[in-house]
Amino acid sequence: MDIMEIYDIAIVGCGPAGLSAAINAASRKKSTLLLGEEVCSPKLLKSPHINNYLGLPEIKGSSLRDKFMQHVSLLNIPILPKKVESISRNEDGIFLLNARDEAYYSRTIIIATGVTVTQFVKGERDYVGKGVSYCATCDGILFAGQQVAVLDFTGEGIEEANFLAEICSKVYYINGSGLDKQGLKDTVEVVDGKVNAIAGDEFVTEIKVGERILPVDGLFIFRETYLPEQLIAGLETKIIISLLIAHVRQILQESMRQVIVRVSLPGC
Ligand SMILES: Cc1cc2nc3c(=O)[nH]c(=O)nc-3n(C[C@H](O)[C@H](O)[C@H](O)COP(=O)(O)OP(=O)(O)OC[C@H]3O[C@@H](n4cnc5c(N)ncnc54)[C@H](O)[C@@H]3O)c2cc1C
Repeated sequence: MDIMEIYDIAIVGCGPAGLSAAINAASRKKSTLLLGEEVCSPKLLKSPHINNYLGLPEIKGSSLRDKFMQHVSLLNIPILPKKVESISRNEDGIFLLNARDEAYYSRTIIIATGVTVTQFVKGERDYVGKGVSYCATCDGILFAGQQVAVLDFTGEGIEEANFLAEICSKVYYINGSGLDKQGLKDTVEVVDGKVNAIAGDEFVTEIKVGERILPVDGLFIFRETYLPEQLIAGLETKIIISLLIAHVRQILQESMRQVIVRVSLPGC
């Protein structure tokens, strides 16, 4: 696949919503990029029984997922097993999607990353793009020579902390959920405890971990999934996508969290 290709539509997330969007995009002959994490919809996989899906009573979540995957595969829609870490937009209006060390380009994006039930760190939302980042390989260079911390809930933070250790003067690693720290460089300082708050003026200047105050310019957070505004920091007030996010949010807040609703949403 040519990574410089500009797609018509990039879909982030390969759960029922993303797969449905991809099928609709394909039927409209749009060039489509579907990006998902390694397992397409862990939620659906874990559902013991889906009993409200029209025509398929009492189907297991895993079986319904198999059917969805077969449908997508029949239409030759490839799924790239990549986690999108940030999205930006250039002057020509083209979206740039960063997934680790790869970048993809698209004229439009559909964010289908599911509902997040994550608890945010106090101050996190205020400092997205002002010290809080979700992608070390994308933003790390902005913190060259500075002090940063990595808050890791997934294990990805190990590699990212090691990467940051090569360019930053100091890197703290905070283990978010009892992960194995194997592979972490000796130069990275492990700090135990919970991140209670992120603070600063215009930009982050410190974080509070337990009783300790760590003076940092940046905090990199690694979670299973992100909210749309975390993926596209800085864009929400400027462009139409904010309307899209608001719309999707409204839908989610109305508790429309069922597979049957997701697959019924218009794909594009
Ligand atoms: C135990 C259980 C039982 C359930 N039972 C039912 C039921 O009986 N009936 C029913 O209708 N629904 C049921 N559900 C809910 C159903 O599973 C969800 O409504 C459905 O999976 C939501 O689809 P989605 O595509 O919006 O999100 P998800 O299924 O969450 O898919 C989102 C996808 O996006 C990926 N992703 C997230 N962030 C990124 C990123 N940054 N980059 C790339 N990919 C990303 C995720 O890995 C995931 O694959 C159940 C859920 C659970 C957990």
